[in-house]
Amino acid sequence: MLKSKKYDLIVVGAGITGTFCALHALNKKKSVLLIEKDNSPFESSFRNLGHINPSGQSFAKWFDISRKSLRIYQGLQENFDLTFSKTGTCYIAKSTQELTLLHELQALFEERNYPAQLYSPADCKQLNPALITNKIFGGIHLPNEGVVDSKEMTHRLRNHLISELGLHYKHNTLVVDVEKRRGIAKIVTSQQETIWADHIILACGNQTQLLLPNHYPTELLQKCQSQIIKLSPQRTQLKNTLISGASVECFSSSQSCPSFDNSLPQDEIKLTIKQLKDGSVLLGETVRSTCIQKQSDLGFELSMEANSRLIEKAKTFIDLPAWDIESTWTNTYLEHVGDGVFSKTVDDIIHILAGMGNKSITTSPAYTQMYINQLYQ
Ligand SMILES: Cc1cc2nc3c(=O)[nH]c(=O)nc-3n(C[C@H](O)[C@H](O)[C@H](O)COP(=O)(O)OP(=O)(O)OC[C@H]3O[C@@H](n4cnc5c(N)ncnc54)[C@H](O)[C@@H]3O)c2cc1C
Repeated sequence: MLKSKKYDLIVVGAGITGTFCALHALNKKKSVLLIEKDNSPFESSFRNLGHINPSGQSFAKWFDISRKSLRIYQGLQENFDLTFSKTGTCYIAKSTQELTLLHELQALFEERNYPAQLYSPADCKQLNPALITNKIFGGIHLPNEGVVDSKEMTHRLRNHLISELGLHYKHNTLVVDVEKRRGIAKIVTSQQETIWADHIILACGNQTQLLLPNHYPTELLQKCQSQIIKLSPQRTQLKNTLISGASVECFSSSQSCPSFDNSLPQDEIKLTIKQLKDGSVLLGETVRSTCIQKQSDLGFELSMEANSRLIEKAKTFIDLPAWDIESTWTNTYLEHVGDGVFSKTVDDIIHILAGMGNKSITTSPAYTQMYINQLYQ
């Protein structure tokens, strides 16, 4: 049946980018086919920290888009359990300089009517009993921010689109070719099936070598390998997602602060700590990057040394009853080097959308909405 049908839109890749593109197109009453190479998709969209933090995004480019994404997550959660919960973020200052930066950030949030409150060490500890108060100088609390369970969220969204909005979904299907033929876009699958559509979106994540490889600009894109740890379940210690140290400075929003020091060396470790519903604790993340043709330079080994450093950093300000590593994993995602996103249209009707990098979870719901609105304006 699929062989003869022409869709309004085919989306290749059932990660967060492709699935949200499908949602917005379905909301416009378009017929949509989502195609995924794996039996059950399990790339970066299913392996990340699941932290939704507009507070970390650049004010010029991404802050408003992220706030809109937060509203989209909340709206979906009202309809079905997407795993979104409003747990809040707390940035923790471990020095007077960091506290100054948090005061400056707070002023920037206030100017934009974004709820944010400066907290004393005792306030921070009240929400997050694991914090060691004599090691911290204070914090800023962002009550509206949230988390999703990334292992689950995109699967649940896809299932909702299939059951409620009529999404057609094909898994275990690698797309091996894409082209425009007689004014219509077509894909060819590894089973030699040809499927037609008015538009095709390639949302293939870090897979840049297979479909239209020459259209991915090597100077604008990099591959980032990120590693995180899951600690064994323990009694609740952390209500908020905690961010501290160099991680605060890595966020694009911090770069708008007068005291931001851009001469600071970039640390591979960007510390974010989050406790999941079952009590386990995620510690992230170690990030290494390389240009897109050299992914193999990143290797395949999980670094125990990086895990030890992550834990040592966390121990400088939180005290957990258990630090046993339950599991640790890594994956590679595509990132635009200039805090942007890579989008390109080929032959008017074939579109590539990728490279939102480590802001994808926070920004893709609203960014893909703008993208689909533009496609069908
Ligand atoms: C450990 C880790 C931690 C992270 N932490 C964060 C974080 O805290 N915040 C954040 O925002 N981001 C984070 N990221 C990055 C974020 O997860 C990714 O940027 C995002 O998930 C990319 O989504 P995507 O849909 O573009 O790509 P993907 O999730 O890679 O999805 C692409 C899909 O396309 C499919 N596909 C590819 N080629 C084909 C083909 N030819 N035919 C059919 N299917 C195909 C793939 O199988 C895959 O399912 C993290 C990533 C990792 C690995």
